Amino acid sequence: MATTAEPGTTSEATNRPTPAKGWGSDAADQPLRPMEFERRALRPDDVAIKITYAGICHSDLHTVRGDWPGTVYPCIPGHEIVGRVTAIGNEVTRHRVGDTVAVGCMVDSCMACDQCLAGWEVFCREGCTQTYNSPDRHTGENTKGGYTDHIVVRDHFVLKVPEGMDEARVAPLLCAGITTYSPLRQYGVGTGTKMAVVGLGGLGHMGVKIGHALGAHVTMITTTPSKGNDARELGADDVIISTDAKQMEEAATRFDFILNTIPVGHEIGPYLELLGRAGRMVIVGAISPMPGFHARDLIWWNRAVGGSAIGGIPETQEMLDFCAEKGIYPDVEFIEMRQINEAYERLIRNDVRYRFVVDMSKGL
Ligand code: NAP
Ligand code: ZN
Repeated sequence: MATTAEPGTTSEATNRPTPAKGWGSDAADQPLRPMEFERRALRPDDVAIKITYAGICHSDLHTVRGDWPGTVYPCIPGHEIVGRVTAIGNEVTRHRVGDTVAVGCMVDSCMACDQCLAGWEVFCREGCTQTYNSPDRHTGENTKGGYTDHIVVRDHFVLKVPEGMDEARVAPLLCAGITTYSPLRQYGVGTGTKMAVVGLGGLGHMGVKIGHALGAHVTMITTTPSKGNDARELGADDVIISTDAKQMEEAATRFDFILNTIPVGHEIGPYLELLGRAGRMVIVGAISPMPGFHARDLIWWNRAVGGSAIGGIPETQEMLDFCAEKGIYPDVEFIEMRQINEAYERLIRNDVRYRFVVDMSKGL
């Protein structure tokens, strides 16, 4: 069923489940710890990937800490994955053993509904299978993500890392990159657009870089004055400190588009007031209840507020190709897997510039 070529990988090993190592959590109040489990035997359309780098998204932390309902423990997170193909099922034609590939937030979907056929697998009518904490479509088993030594993924959901890209810095593009690229493309952000990004973290710093590369005039809106210089180095033309009422007041009606990455529920009124005529704010950060807002802030100046969830697979490949062409990479701090709990504490303290990436060559 499986074909292999790389030394050290035998077809025997891929025709039955393979022992895997990872780091996960047993409960919302427990730290992550090393865990052992099995990856499934390859299905005909599966690709086996030895993981080389895994990014750490704030969503990983929300999930393992039980900030969102529905976490199944043990939970092994990670949906920003880069690695090397070690084996393929016998129906796989798009990937070869030895290819450098990437996996983002999804690993499967029905591939037959209108949303899947339109390249919006994230909105699959049967529900897409997420890379972790999601039931496998065939076995119902809880998926385990990228904080692991290897992963097995349906071929359609495996992205190609463009030739020549620095593989070590690609992983965060698979969530932070696509989650910011997709809304900017959906709403036509480009030359002449006056856009703002709220929150300079993993998503926000990619929003600044991609917005700048698309030709927009980018303003960073941050709660952290010390990030101002960084924002300009990342490509921001202007910086607003959101806790400074005067700066916020002066920016009223200034923007065509606002990308809001704040990771917790918050008042959106102060940000809506920054939108000009027919301006739009897209919320990508707070996947949680939000306090109300005054409809006047939408009606007056014809404003709109919406949301955006990651992006589809074709658009994710487009984003990778765009970043390769423009030389866009996240700013990363490499860590070893054993530093993961400390990294989570730093993420909560807003002390990461701007994405942690686990270097798997340092061991699990
Ligand atoms: P992150 O690295 O922690 O960055 C969030 C930034 O928001 C912080 O750096 C901080 O920037 C700002 N911030 C934090 N707390 C705040 C508060 N109470 N009020 C105002 N600003 C605050 O997180 P991330 O990885 O970028 O993820 C951001 C959110 O997006 C998470 O909730 C994650 O779950 C979600 N997410 C959504 C999608 C999607 O498909 N829509 C995909 C991935 C992630 P400043 O210091 O500049 O203020
Ligand atoms: Zn993410």
